[in-house]
Amino acid sequence: MKPKVFVTRPLPQPALDLVAAACDLEVHAWDAPLSPPELAERCRDAEGIIVCGACLTAEVLEKAPRLRAVANVSVGYDNLDVEACTRRRILVTNTGGAAQETTADLAFALLAAVTRRVVEADRYVREGRWQHWAWNLLWGADLHHRTLGILGFGRIGQAMARRARGFSMRILYHSRHRAPEAVERELEAVYVDRDRLLAESDFVSLHVPLTQETHHLMGPREFSRMKPSAFLINTSRGAVVDEQALVAALEQKQIAGAALDVFEHEPRVHPALLGRDNVVLAPHIGSGTAETRTKMALLAAENLLAALAGKRPPNLVNPEVYAGEAGDA
Ligand code: NAP
Repeated sequence: MKPKVFVTRPLPQPALDLVAAACDLEVHAWDAPLSPPELAERCRDAEGIIVCGACLTAEVLEKAPRLRAVANVSVGYDNLDVEACTRRRILVTNTGGAAQETTADLAFALLAAVTRRVVEADRYVREGRWQHWAWNLLWGADLHHRTLGILGFGRIGQAMARRARGFSMRILYHSRHRAPEAVERELEAVYVDRDRLLAESDFVSLHVPLTQETHHLMGPREFSRMKPSAFLINTSRGAVVDEQALVAALEQKQIAGAALDVFEHEPRVHPALLGRDNVVLAPHIGSGTAETRTKMALLAAENLLAALAGKRPPNLVNPEVYAGEAGDA
């Protein structure tokens, strides 16, 4: 009998076809998140789930006794209770490596948009306020030859550094581990401690995963160390930033502006951010291109099929499941 698989969103057809060829597939019909009780109901008999934007809590897992594999269609997996999965020996995978260039494209686009006031300028033209060319109209700040501070120097952080080199930027980075010397040399990136990065950067761009350690990594203390002319760019996860502290830093002019793709209580956005011209907002579209989303869905499908076939999936995030087993599958 084919294993039962539930997919929490209507993903691109090539990915669904791949899974349907080997599994008994059920797909949630709407492009909207399922609540945990709805998810629990839909995956009662499932051996595999492809999760896209839903929260897989310990309570949901309890109601899915046959579950063996969970493929998250995302690099971050803070929406899953990975520890609970590991205790149940459920293999969990992500789509790391599929979205770094696209997400870095958006991070850089946000950086440019807030610095050169692109969104404000667009509103100015559409609202019919442009009467004549003016010398000091909508002056922004330069990007080129400025200092970019990258917090979290993994795949997306390094992709961001590659873009910054094209703008002749000076690149500082801080990460849990220092990058290999060859990477530092190639990207001309200098490892510094977090406080120095905050103090010297004209742009601070966040690329860490959301974990207990990185929750509110940017709080009142960190904003007070940034330059008043500096901008914060966040395409990682909303709760990496203490949003209340960000609002206070903007109001007190401790920083010059922010560009955000992710929010602490998505899809709710702090009301004080909505009214500010020096803040650019995007609705979590970091990996949002047809090519990349299709690639992510296919990768999730491949991971799930490998796990259900008893093979070690390529993007396994909880290898502890195999701990103590003779010869990993
Ligand atoms: P990655 O390759 O795993 O890189 C993350 C980096 O952060 C690693 O270098 C890691 O260091 C470092 N790090 C982890 N904890 C840290 C800490 N406490 N302090 C300093 N550095 C720390 O991940 P990625 O592919 O670049 O993705 C990064 C995040 O971006 C994802 O987790 C996801 O949440 C987010 N994302 C958002 C979107 C979007 O749509 N906006 C799209 C894709 C990804 P180690 O190497 O030591 O672990």
